[in-house]
Amino acid sequence: MQTRLPAKILCYFTVLLAVAGAASLPYLFESPSLFYKFGADKLMLRWGKITGLVAGVLIVFQAVSAARFAFLDRIFGLDRLWGFHRINGLVILALAVCHPVLILGADGFGFFPLTRRYWPEFLGVGVFLLLVGLVLTAWFHHRLIRDWQVWFAMHRFTALLVFILIFVHVRFVSKPFESGLPFWLLTGAFLTSFLVLGLKWSGVSGLFIRKYRVTAVEALAADAWQVVACPESGDGFDYLPGQFAFVRPRGKDLPKESHPFTISSSPHTKDRIEFIIRSCGDFTRTVRRLKTGDTLCIDGPYGRFSHTLLTRKRPVVMIAGGIGITPMMSMLRYMAATGFDQPVYLVWSNKTADHLMFKTEFDDMASRLKSLTIEHILTREPVHQTRFKRISRESLSDVLKPVSRDAAVFICGPPPLVLSVRPVLRELEFDPRRVYTESFLL
Ligand SMILES: Cc1cc2nc3c(=O)[nH]c(=O)nc-3n(C[C@H](O)[C@H](O)[C@H](O)COP(=O)(O)OP(=O)(O)OC[C@H]3O[C@@H](n4cnc5c(N)ncnc54)[C@H](O)[C@@H]3O)c2cc1C
Repeated sequence: MQTRLPAKILCYFTVLLAVAGAASLPYLFESPSLFYKFGADKLMLRWGKITGLVAGVLIVFQAVSAARFAFLDRIFGLDRLWGFHRINGLVILALAVCHPVLILGADGFGFFPLTRRYWPEFLGVGVFLLLVGLVLTAWFHHRLIRDWQVWFAMHRFTALLVFILIFVHVRFVSKPFESGLPFWLLTGAFLTSFLVLGLKWSGVSGLFIRKYRVTAVEALAADAWQVVACPESGDGFDYLPGQFAFVRPRGKDLPKESHPFTISSSPHTKDRIEFIIRSCGDFTRTVRRLKTGDTLCIDGPYGRFSHTLLTRKRPVVMIAGGIGITPMMSMLRYMAATGFDQPVYLVWSNKTADHLMFKTEFDDMASRLKSLTIEHILTREPVHQTRFKRISRESLSDVLKPVSRDAAVFICGPPPLVLSVRPVLRELEFDPRRVYTESFLL
């Protein structure tokens, strides 16, 4: 897969520079509280300040990694950024625990008197509690809050609150931040992040969102709907086969939510884009209510799950679970249109035959591609309908027997499928560096 090493190095360097800069502030600009401390107490107090400042800087990167910046997606891919976001949240929490422990430890764990003078310190306690809630609900939201949208709205609001309160806490808790370079660094970082994120999150139309008009909505298979849309004005946007976009419908009786869906059409059909959506929850069940003429606000494209990013042409294996077929369809359509000359193997698992789609299109592709092998697996049909009843070591070792171990493997579907197939491929001696995955759950 094409890497963007210089850009990656620049990003890591920026993070390191910001962290090192924050960590050096308590050395370069000593606050009066440090003047009267010596030995271990001084060290503890200084490191207490460092952990707090580093946590503050990491919170800025937390916001940046969640903001779906297209240039960062091109460098890392959104899934990696979201992975960073999750781990960074834990690191921030760990630093936020160390911060008061070290600061209070330097004073023999005596707590501040309950007087108005210490309001910035008490504000810090409030921010800490909000942070704990933010991280816990983020890691366990599937169990704690049923509705994803409710959790997401709460997460975004609390994160914004934490962001503002941390600025106020740092500004008023420590003398060096009242003026001079530390003050300007803090204010500059806060205002810039606030402006950029506000602009991004408010979805300043034209800049990030493209408007498409629905031209057709049709049922393709059990619970699966195809939505076709054309740009409201001008040309459509460029995307790679396999990429996805966030789609927010604007129509009567439609939820005003933005959800990620793979663009299942091929980039060569520039006048329209297609999505295939399986009804499985509150939002996706409303897709059938979309009507011709409704507007779709589209934020994208995103993702690096595409055979076009391979550094050289090689055989391609695609393993799809259910609706995980959508990026494979986009890639297959593009391959058929551009004369891809390597063997392609598709293993597609569905519950029943009613979930199958594209029978005639697959036949057409088989005649246009040099070599296309398709293995269907039906998990809830009588055994005799397909050779295998599930994607497993047994079925994959049989189906992939003739495939060159030099092949690139793309896996897409629900997270349990993606997780279980990876080790099987390693056992079958496929190179893990050429196994690419896309999970349909955030
Ligand atoms: C990169 C990517 C590509 C996808 N492509 C397709 C596709 O081509 N076809 C298809 O049918 N499905 C696709 N999905 C899955 C689709 O986004 C979810 O099924 C849909 O958002 C579920 O919403 P719901 O309200 O109907 O279900 P719910 O039951 O409310 O949600 C089910 C789960 O979906 C996730 N989810 C819900 N809302 C959002 C949201 N606004 N943003 C992100 N995740 C959310 C959460 O993990 C949630 O627990 C894709 C997902 C991702 C991440």
